[in-house]
Amino acid sequence: MGDPLGGAIRLLVGPNDPSGPRRPIHLENAWRGACTADRMGARDLLLAVREDAKEWASGKSPWLRAMLLAYLLYAGLAHLWSGLGGEYRSWFAGITLAFHELGHVIFSGLGKTWMLLGGNILQLVIPTAAAVYLLLRQHDWFGVSVCGGWLATSLFELASYIDDANRLNLPLVGLGEDVLHDWETLLTDAHLLNHAQTLARATQGLGIAVFAGSLALGMALLSVMWRTRRNQAIVHM
Ligand SMILES: [Zn+2]
Repeated sequence: MGDPLGGAIRLLVGPNDPSGPRRPIHLENAWRGACTADRMGARDLLLAVREDAKEWASGKSPWLRAMLLAYLLYAGLAHLWSGLGGEYRSWFAGITLAFHELGHVIFSGLGKTWMLLGGNILQLVIPTAAAVYLLLRQHDWFGVSVCGGWLATSLFELASYIDDANRLNLPLVGLGEDVLHDWETLLTDAHLLNHAQTLARATQGLGIAVFAGSLALGMALLSVMWRTRRNQAIVHM
């Protein structure tokens, strides 16, 4: 049988090419080890992933990344502060809305329910796919943290939209005269309109978890960058 997961990872990260961009060697080994050797458990996999992230961050410049992370912290807190249905919009809001509308178009051939769901699905899939791409193809751990921040803001926007199903306060964006409110229509059709707030809170909770995880990853990477650069400076003195 060999190594199906390792093969899949190799497919994602591309063939061995020494002249190509630096690839996540440790990650690949960790995954392969996890599926071939009994001794390699989840803990070893986590340790290997952590080592890979540390090695990636070593010696990199933290300054611009720190400013970006500070913005992510601000954007996440501003979303939470303004609450469900709040007016705050992050830098990601425009691109999130563009993918939301594109999702409606892509799913439009599958009937009304999937068309309405499609926009909401795509606005979560794109930041997730961007994080996976940055990790597996570009080996950019900090990019994963930024995409996680984007995904969190997208979840906060989605939570506001779901919560609005009963209030209908948010301005609707769409083509044509009769723009449907995605969540009023979906939840009414499913006889779940009175559960809108519960669903919105659960989505917001998931957003908080993604926000906290992304921020923790970003801060851990920055701390490695600061420590290793300070050590390099001391060595060169
Ligand atoms: Zn929509």
